[in-house]
Amino acid sequence: MAQEDIFKKLVAHCKEYGYVFQSSEIYDGLGAVYDYGQMGVELKNNIKKYWWDSMVLLHENVVGLDSAIFMHPTIWKASGHVDAFNDPLIDNKDSKKRYRADVLIEDQLAKYEEKMNKEVAKAAKRFGESFDEKQFRETNPRVLANQEKWNELHTRFSNALNDNNLAELKQIIEDEGIVCPISGSRNWTDVRQFNLMFSTEMGSTAEGASKIFLRPETAQGIFVNYLNVQKTGRMKIPFGIAQIGKAFRNEIVARQFIFRMREFEQMEMQFFVRPGSELDWFEKWKETRMKWHRALGFGDENYRFHEHEKLAHYANAAVDVEYKFPFGFKEVEGIHSRTDFDLSQHEQYSGKKIRYYDPELGESYVPFVVETSIGVDRMFLQVISASYCEEQLEKDTRVVLKLPPVLAPVKLAVMPLVKKDGLPEKAREIIDELKFDFNCQYDEKDSIGKRYRRQDAIGTPFCVTVDHQSAEDNTVTIRYRDTMEQERVAIADLGKIIGEQVSYKKLFGKM
Ligand code: ATP
Repeated sequence: MAQEDIFKKLVAHCKEYGYVFQSSEIYDGLGAVYDYGQMGVELKNNIKKYWWDSMVLLHENVVGLDSAIFMHPTIWKASGHVDAFNDPLIDNKDSKKRYRADVLIEDQLAKYEEKMNKEVAKAAKRFGESFDEKQFRETNPRVLANQEKWNELHTRFSNALNDNNLAELKQIIEDEGIVCPISGSRNWTDVRQFNLMFSTEMGSTAEGASKIFLRPETAQGIFVNYLNVQKTGRMKIPFGIAQIGKAFRNEIVARQFIFRMREFEQMEMQFFVRPGSELDWFEKWKETRMKWHRALGFGDENYRFHEHEKLAHYANAAVDVEYKFPFGFKEVEGIHSRTDFDLSQHEQYSGKKIRYYDPELGESYVPFVVETSIGVDRMFLQVISASYCEEQLEKDTRVVLKLPPVLAPVKLAVMPLVKKDGLPEKAREIIDELKFDFNCQYDEKDSIGKRYRRQDAIGTPFCVTVDHQSAEDNTVTIRYRDTMEQERVAIADLGKIIGEQVSYKKLFGKM
């Protein structure tokens, strides 16, 4: 099945099973805003716990914070967001559709990459085991021609971004013959800058009200609390502050479901280090974060690092962790070396000294910062895309979400074989015993087969069936989602069997 079709099915599946709903749906929806349903909120909470514990529990020198969404407006002047938090937009005059000029060009680069990969895949099939991919890439004329086009475009694109040259971005779009996917035409407007911050008014009267912004990232809340946390927590450099919270961006183009939203949630950690050591820490955090992603077991080959074409105004190094979504490799997380830019700017704008006295060096300095920044929603989409699976069975097909058990919203479903003979009561007893440790679901409706399918569709890793034998010897069958195998186990052992599979500790052991 084409990847696009899979993605469409996945979106429909998320709605059908209570994972994600369009916001304000009964009013025809609100663009790029989504709500999480009864299953979605559980998965989201589990993802957040996986991140939070990996940061705060596993690192003695990382602590948490929960700062407000509303902040003093000068913060956004100091951070550079008022002047520079822009995306280059372009409109197609025929379809009246709006696009991000940089994304159109990135897609064009991806097309060249795809062409090369297709040649490689074809050749690999033809030559079988003797295929030498490196040599093929270095010598095949079609691959080389596309590589050259990619290189040229990449250099032009990076230069245009770094020079903030909007006319050149448009020229690239024209030279590459990029067409609007809707109208198919090349009838483009000029490229303009568009600020992504939402603003609102605070205060009740028109004279007294002041314009404030909805934060476009959570990081600034951490920077402006650096002194508070460092002093009250007696933190010694190097140390980090982690935060999970909502962020808002008035995205120009919001497609691809929850990949790009206007209201979303971020998990960010700012790590404060001695000046000069930031690039070493940048490398360390790159490695730590990649391990965190890979520990989920979705296949190492589906992740890669992507260097930024243009460094943000505050960074001296930046890399994205990309995952292979059904629509290609895309960013899930950014890791940035933000220098001392933010803290120095806040020193200047607030007039307060934001320093660290380093007892080992016997001097004070503005710390440098390495940031790891990941979107909860994008991570959610990554987990769902990696887990969604349509399996051909002997007689029919099943749709199963092969979620890592630790992230699954419901850990076990308990099902009485029939609705009589004391089996429902026995099933309830099991739930009453296990509900303090695991999210359990009771299900007695329809045939066992149908009930299994329902649980497969929401990704429940374990189904426990209570039958007549259970009443006699206190055993049940446990059915495993991925293999569909069943075994008979003692009710008393259920907690241990499930507990081992759904433990965060086990996951952290893989990092
Ligand atoms: P992009 O290039 O995709 O717009 P970005 O580089 O601007 O993203 P950052 O500012 O580095 O993103 O934000 C860190 C993380 O926050 C991203 O890796 C992503 O997971 C998440 N994120 C950013 N913007 C959005 C959005 N509009 N919707 C959902 N998640 C987002």
